Amino acid sequence: MIPQTIDAWQILSWQQELSRAVTDPGELLELLALDRRQLSIALQASMDFPLRVPRPYINRIRPGDPDDPLLLQILPTGRELEQVPGYSTDPLQERQNNPVPGVVHKYHGRVLLIVSPACAINCRYCFRRHFDYGENTQGRGDWERAIHYIAGDPGISEVIYSGGDPLVANDRHLRWLTERLAAINHLRRLRVHTRLPVVIPSRIDSHCLEWMTATRLQPLVVIHSNHAREIDGPVKAAISRLNETGIRVLNQSVLLRGINDDPAALEDLSETLFDAGVLPYYLHLLDRVSGAAHFGVDRRRALEIHRILQARLPGYLVPRLVEELPGAPGKTLLGCSA
Ligand SMILES: *Cc1c(COP(=O)(O)O)cnc(C)c1O
Ligand code: SF4
Repeated sequence: MIPQTIDAWQILSWQQELSRAVTDPGELLELLALDRRQLSIALQASMDFPLRVPRPYINRIRPGDPDDPLLLQILPTGRELEQVPGYSTDPLQERQNNPVPGVVHKYHGRVLLIVSPACAINCRYCFRRHFDYGENTQGRGDWERAIHYIAGDPGISEVIYSGGDPLVANDRHLRWLTERLAAINHLRRLRVHTRLPVVIPSRIDSHCLEWMTATRLQPLVVIHSNHAREIDGPVKAAISRLNETGIRVLNQSVLLRGINDDPAALEDLSETLFDAGVLPYYLHLLDRVSGAAHFGVDRRRALEIHRILQARLPGYLVPRLVEELPGAPGKTLLGCSA
């Protein structure tokens, strides 16, 4: 049962929050009482990959603090303009695993569906900052082709809604798609990879919970949080709504220099997530995408941080440290405590 009253406390709908997102660097600096001298470089860095940040997320950023770990995830800076060897525009070579538009089939038994090319927030470290969404925008015919592809491969047991952010799509479309997928007998699970419960928690409303649970597919939501300060009251409430309707919630993070490359910050994140009803799943090494090199943490330091986490936390609160290597049959696990 999904109580309809859970939507009543919302003042603005999630769609309104999406469209009210701040995209003007000058406005962001002003809202957060930051130095206006950063404006021209922020404008320059946002030409390639625009600034985009919804207000519920801005509310959690400390005004006047240029090193705030949430601010650093979204503010365009001059460091993005640096060309660093080893960092490219398609680090995962996903363009080679696109059997039909909108489908990424790289790993055994699982396919990614690019449900929505857009994101609610633009994370500066994102490996999709150069992704060709134009080629992956779906019309009805493309959806039929994607469904046909999945139906034709009995080895696929799990569909992962991805993007961009799949929850930027509207619930009518998501319900239609989910119903079509549930009719494919060899599918067992539906996984949704989304940052929206963290960025605009009101997205988890009764309409969303409805299509996620009104299906024979076992639903699973993987949120994306990098720092404990992202988990505020409304985010906790959104996670509770998922948990209360029987949806398991996991978290993935990216290890980011200056943001969470510190055992205490990650320990705090794991504890905060668990209190909110989320299990840590992955801690990713940064994908080597050009424009994000300044967020990189080298492998030795990553392993050291991970070892400290293993020593301090119960095993179920230690995320798996992984790296995405082009051509590998799955994510590559680092730091097994052998
Ligand atoms: C991460 C990922 C998956 C899912 O991998 P899990 O290890 O099952 O979480 C599937 N396909 C692609 C392309 C991915 O990057
Ligand atoms: S895909 Fe995820 S990490 Fe990348 S910009 Fe969108 S929400 Fe951020």
